[in-house]
Amino acid sequence: GGPVSAVCVPMTFNSQALGVLHITGPNHLPPDTRTRDQFIDLGAQTATHIGTLRTLEVTRQQASTDGLTGLANRRVIEARVGQLLAQVVPFVLVLADLDRFKSINDRFGHEVGDRALQAFAAMLVDNVRGADVVGRLGGEEFIIIYPELSVAAAMEAIERLRVALSDTTRIDDIPTFTASFGVTHSSVGSDFDAVVRVADAGLLMAKDQGR
Ligand code: GH3
Ligand code: MG
Ligand code: MG
Repeated sequence: GGPVSAVCVPMTFNSQALGVLHITGPNHLPPDTRTRDQFIDLGAQTATHIGTLRTLEVTRQQASTDGLTGLANRRVIEARVGQLLAQVVPFVLVLADLDRFKSINDRFGHEVGDRALQAFAAMLVDNVRGADVVGRLGGEEFIIIYPELSVAAAMEAIERLRVALSDTTRIDDIPTFTASFGVTHSSVGSDFDAVVRVADAGLLMAKDQGR
């Protein structure tokens, strides 16, 4: 609506627009060529900096999450368990393995199997609390960490998961399936593998006793 003095420098990184560096000055006093060139340099440097940080963040995110479900991956879970053990924070560790999952893939196809995995992951996330950690160890195996919970309280939480799973498979457009769980307390071992081994033995028992 009136006289202005401004310089607008587009900021791009790898041909992608990131924003505009916008500098204003007193009306009727446009910056000289030298100042404008400095702004252009500043815009380019800032764009490179922001672009690099964003790329780094995306890479970091991809390295710590499972692509299919968005859950934390094994590496992140191991690190988190390591922290809890180092800080002597007690926790319950739960392994979950989908029952007869191969037959879901065989009967309905891999795509439906993938959707079942995603639904299971979402159900876990929806049914744990803030401090709890949920991850995908690989394949159809998941892990839940309940810090500062007793085994008895964790068993109740898992029973709620079991009910939530049956609701999920009823409501979502996926075949019905169940899961087996192996539960143990962190006091059984001094590192991730030792605690997981005990939970795994429990999981095998659950499978043996009918899934
Ligand atoms: P059990 O009750 O003993 O656990 O039987 P199961 O069929 O679940 O176990 P098994 O280990 O025989 O088979 C696991 C299946 O999980 C086989 C594999 O094709 C499937 N699977 C693993 N990862 C993925 C995935 O990312 N997507 C899909 N769709 N299937 C997967
Ligand atoms: Mg398995
Ligand atoms: Mg299985």
